[in-house]
Amino acid sequence: MVNLKQCNIAVIAYHYIRPIKKSKYKNLKGMEIVEFRKQLDFFKKNYNILNFEDFNEIINNKTNFPKKPSVLLTFDDGYSDHYNYVFPELIKKKIKGIFYPPTMVIENKLILDVNKLHFILAKEKNRDLIIREIKNIYKKRYKKEINFNQLKFKNLKSRFDDKKTTLIKRTLQYVFPQRQREFILKKLFNKVMNIDEKEFSKEIYLSRNDVSEMYKNGMSFGIHGENHFWWEHLPIHKQEKELRNPINYFKKLNVGVSNISVCYPNGSYNKSTLKILKKLNISFALTTQKGPINKKNVSLKYQLPRYDVNDTLQ
Ligand SMILES: [Zn+2]
Repeated sequence: MVNLKQCNIAVIAYHYIRPIKKSKYKNLKGMEIVEFRKQLDFFKKNYNILNFEDFNEIINNKTNFPKKPSVLLTFDDGYSDHYNYVFPELIKKKIKGIFYPPTMVIENKLILDVNKLHFILAKEKNRDLIIREIKNIYKKRYKKEINFNQLKFKNLKSRFDDKKTTLIKRTLQYVFPQRQREFILKKLFNKVMNIDEKEFSKEIYLSRNDVSEMYKNGMSFGIHGENHFWWEHLPIHKQEKELRNPINYFKKLNVGVSNISVCYPNGSYNKSTLKILKKLNISFALTTQKGPINKKNVSLKYQLPRYDVNDTLQ
């Protein structure tokens, strides 16, 4: 249990916020709208809620560190939930948040591999069946058996998932070469979901108009890459592209980029990333390391900790 009262500043990360129990994807990991509403009321009553500008000034030493416990609300991955359910609530309660969509999704043509995985895992509960299906797809395509033991897994511990789920995720997120991963996921997605990718993309992601309207109404946008890759596994020139392309894309949508922050996709970055952020004069960057921001760590502005909303907050 994380007691936010003991934190100076807690940055909170949200992902899916939507009706889940009443939907087709009852196992999707996310938050019900009622819960979100309650949480906003709780924050309004007990905390100082910062917006991008307030937080940026604190991080870059232009204003004093707040005495009152404060929160900053961030929303990852560009889901249509953020326009349909989050945006109206924030407007109603006069709260501003930072949104981090991988810019590729706003074009509504494809589903990111990470999201294909979420929906596959939400629709098909049987992990053994999924693993068997991955083996079948692999064997059919590459004419040999998969050997999971030969693959390099850092470890199978995760804050949120059981071992089989973690095995499936890591395999299809970065252990296989990119082309193989994409092939297997596409087949697996078609088999489990049986849905048109473009149509589904329109359904689950923000559109250009959504982004424009949210921005015009005071919401902030930041960089979460173009494709939601694991940056620590990318060469430096590809990392730089993942940072520059979203800046150019936002400019096209008239979303302000003179001060812009980063949220590492999958929490993944390395020393090269930090160099690029400095070069591009990025305002600050958020990790997936759990923890508060206080006077001790505030100066590490490219490695700021966050809480996931799944870390039980009180
Ligand atoms: Zn993300």
